[in-house]
Amino acid sequence: MPQESNRVALVTGAARGIGLATAKRFLAEGWQVALLDIDWPALETAVAALALPEDTLALACDVSEPGQVETAFATLIARFGRLDALVNNAGTAVFKPVLETSLTEWNRVLAVNLTGPFLTSQLAAPLMADTGGGAIVNITSISGLRASTLRVAYGTSKAALAHLTKQQAAEFAGLGIRVNAVAPGPVETAMAQAVHSPEIRADYRDAIPLARYGLEEELAASIFFLCSEQASYITGQTLAVDGGFDAVGIGLATLRGERRNL
Ligand code: NAD
Repeated sequence: MPQESNRVALVTGAARGIGLATAKRFLAEGWQVALLDIDWPALETAVAALALPEDTLALACDVSEPGQVETAFATLIARFGRLDALVNNAGTAVFKPVLETSLTEWNRVLAVNLTGPFLTSQLAAPLMADTGGGAIVNITSISGLRASTLRVAYGTSKAALAHLTKQQAAEFAGLGIRVNAVAPGPVETAMAQAVHSPEIRADYRDAIPLARYGLEEELAASIFFLCSEQASYITGQTLAVDGGFDAVGIGLATLRGERRNL
């Protein structure tokens, strides 16, 4: 395997949230990182704040647009010449009932959350194979494991991404590439802090055995683990990083002796 200092990761949706935390984790471990995002002003600001110009590359790109993805990869190859890890983290959500979700909304969510990882992985796999292999981590969601209201497009896209993960694992193993998924539960991102009401926060606390949101850094640690040699025999899996949310089914708070005070 190459020296840690030579390794290169590409993280999509890296301007903020879980993606930015993941990029920081790779950098802290001595990797070089290409940070890709559709939101150029936010990405530029985030990469400037990292203040590691030798080890970072900012790529403006919509992952659902094949031409933009090709240009981003050409820029990455020109700069780093190799790729060891791809984190398909860019995602978008429309939370509406089935009967109110428009075809345009459905198509956009599927394009970003499912077609995006399909496109980036198609370009990443041959590049990784050139240097003996690598690892891909697709970021799905607890909404792809368990159904609930308002998630027809988002939850379906994430469930499909979990299956794409298995398809890729089956075929890319021969190239020396492992492919896994991380399914976050609710994460304490700036956006979650801004939009989740006290009632929603209390509901999540009641539904999750560990009774709290996950931290961006906890997601980044799991993603980095799956890209590292520590996970050398793990492929085709979805790891729920969710405080136990997926494990407990109904998980009645009253039965756990944790009635909440509203
Ligand atoms: P976020 O919205 O804070 O960040 C997502 C980033 O992706 C943004 O910077 C956005 O500009 C970028 N992006 C969106 N569409 C893009 C596109 N077409 N091309 C390139 N970049 C694009 O999200 P987050 O909360 O950090 O979540 C990251 C991932 O984790 C997403 O896939 C999300 O679905 C998943 N997830 C998040 C949570 C949570 O609670 N935060 C829970 C489950 C799953």
